[in-house]
Amino acid sequence: MIGLIAYGAKRTTVAVFALLVHVFLWVPVTLVGRFLFTTSRYVTGTRLLTQESIVQMSPTSPNSKYSGDPTGQVVLIGGGFTGLAAAYVLTRQGVQVTLLERDDHLGGLAGSFEVNGERLEKFYHHWFTNDEHVMQLVKELHAEDCILYRPTRTGMYYANNFFKLSSPLDVLRFTPLNWIDRLRLGLLVLRARRVKDWQQLEARTAEEWLLELCGREVYRVVWEPLLRGKFGPFASDISAVWFWNKVKLRGGSRSKDGGEVLAYYKGGFAALAERITEAITSMGGQIQTGTAAAALVVDEGRVTGVQTGSGIIRADAVIATPALPLIADLVEPHATGDYTRSLRQIDYLANVCLVLELDRSLSSTYWLNVNDPDFPFVGVIEHTNFEPSTTYGGRHIVYLSKYLPDTADLYQMSSPEALAFSIPYLQRMFPDFRPEWILAHHFWRAQYSQPIVVRHYSDRIPSQETPIDGFYIATMAQIYPEDRGTNYAIRQGKAIGNLVAAKLSQAKQLARSF
Ligand SMILES: Cc1cc2nc3c(=O)[nH]c(=O)nc-3n(C[C@H](O)[C@H](O)[C@H](O)COP(=O)(O)OP(=O)(O)OC[C@H]3O[C@@H](n4cnc5c(N)ncnc54)[C@H](O)[C@@H]3O)c2cc1C
Repeated sequence: MIGLIAYGAKRTTVAVFALLVHVFLWVPVTLVGRFLFTTSRYVTGTRLLTQESIVQMSPTSPNSKYSGDPTGQVVLIGGGFTGLAAAYVLTRQGVQVTLLERDDHLGGLAGSFEVNGERLEKFYHHWFTNDEHVMQLVKELHAEDCILYRPTRTGMYYANNFFKLSSPLDVLRFTPLNWIDRLRLGLLVLRARRVKDWQQLEARTAEEWLLELCGREVYRVVWEPLLRGKFGPFASDISAVWFWNKVKLRGGSRSKDGGEVLAYYKGGFAALAERITEAITSMGGQIQTGTAAAALVVDEGRVTGVQTGSGIIRADAVIATPALPLIADLVEPHATGDYTRSLRQIDYLANVCLVLELDRSLSSTYWLNVNDPDFPFVGVIEHTNFEPSTTYGGRHIVYLSKYLPDTADLYQMSSPEALAFSIPYLQRMFPDFRPEWILAHHFWRAQYSQPIVVRHYSDRIPSQETPIDGFYIATMAQIYPEDRGTNYAIRQGKAIGNLVAAKLSQAKQLARSF
C-alpha cells in the first residue's frame, strides 16, 4: 500500500488508500494533537453517580425550573465550573445557595484576565465538539448562538523540525518514524479498541502498555516525550487507563470532511461563567467572590456552617470543589487521620503558562506539541490561530505551557524571569522571532492543575460523601477514567447538586413524617 503512494498509483487506488489511512490514522493524529489536554464522553467511576441515578434523583427535568418547596441552605466552596454547575442545579430546585470563591473572579482554572479589553483564559482553553455536558448546559442557558466552531491546525516540534499533524496523510509523512512504525502508530488505535473494559488495564502503566502496542521507537519518538512533558517525574507511573481513555472514548472533534474542529465561547470561558452566574443569581442564589472558606463548622459530626473572614454562613449541606489537599486542610480538625491522609494520597502537578501578546503571528499552527526534551515547555499554543487576533485588537496570543512540580525552578520564577528564560528557546524554535514583537506578557501559575492518575487509581478516588454528615466533595481528581476538563466539571457539578438536593428533600420529608 505504501509503495502505491510512493510510485504514483492511479487516483482511485490513492482514494481507497486515503480512506484506509483515514480510518487507521485519524485517531492517532487527534490523540497526538490533543495529548496535552483531551476530553471524552460520559463515564462513571464506581463511586461516582451514574447518569441514571442523576435522572432519578433530580426532581426536575433538565429544562424545567423547580416548582416545589425550597429545601435547605447549601454553601458551595469554589467558583470554578464544578461549583458553578452545582449552584445552578441547586438553585433550579429551589435550594438556597451561597457560593464562596476565594479569588476575585469566577472560573477557577478556566478563569480569565483582560487583553485589550477582552477576556482571555489564563491557561489555554477550548472544547471539543463532542463535549456534550457543556453543550447541554449552554442549551439550557439559551446561549447556543455563543458557541463558536473553528477549524484548527496541529503540529509537532521534533529534532529541530516542525511536522504538520493535522491529517492522517501528515502522519504518513512523519519522517522521524519509518514506514512500519508509522503504521504501528495507526494500528495502536485498533489494538487499544479491542480492550472493552478499562478495569483490566488498571494494574498496568501507560508506558508498559504502549511499548507492547506500538514498540520502542514509536514510544520513544511520539509518546514518551508527551508523557514526560505532561507528567514530568510521574510519566512512568501514569496508568494505562488514563491513556486508553484517550483512545477509547475520544471520538474526535471534526468537521464532516475530517478536518479538526474545536469550540469556543463568544467572549471566552469567562462569558459562559458569567451566563451561569446570571442564571444562579436570577433564581436567588448568592455568589461571594474574594471570600475564602476558612474552616468548616461541625457540630456532633454534622456540618452546620462555613467560617469566612466576615463570619459564619449557616448551612444544611456544604459542597467543596477545590483540589483535594485544600479540602484535606478543611476537614482535618473534624475527621480521623486516616481519612485526611486518604484525601492526600493523590498527587498533583502544577502548571505554568507564559502568555505572550505579540504584534505578529509566530506560525499558522494552533497547537504545537513539543517533543524535544531540551525545550522547557511541552506546548506552544497560538490561541489567535483559533480565535482571531481581531478579537484582541490585532494582538496575537501565544501560550507556552508546562506541567511541573510546584518545587520546580520555572514554577518559582517571577514573570520577568520566566520571560527572559523563555526567549532563547523561542528564538531557537522560530529563528525569525525577535523580543521586540512582544507587546506584553503574563505569567500564570496554578498549583493543583493535573491529578496524577496512577495504576489502581479507582481505589484512591474519595467518595463524594464524607465522614462528616452533610459535607460533600466534588473535585476534578474524582473524574475517572476520563481526564479533568470543564465538560466533566459541569457533569460532576450537576451530579453533586442533584444528589444534595435529593438528600435535603428526603430529610425534609422525613422531618414532616414525625
Ligand atoms: C493548563 C490547563 C489547560 C486546560 N485546558 C482546558 C481546555 O482546553 N478545556 C477544558 O475544558 N478544560 C481545560 N482544563 C481543565 C479545566 O480548567 C478544569 O478541569 C476545570 O476548570 C476544573 O474546574 P473545577 O471547578 O473542578 O476546579 P477549579 O477550576 O480548580 O475550581 C476550584 C475553585 O475553588 C477555589 N477555592 C480553593 N480554595 C477555596 C476556599 N478555601 N474557599 C473558596 N474558594 C476556594 C479556587 O480558587 C477555584 O476557583 C485545563 C486546565 C489546565 C490547568
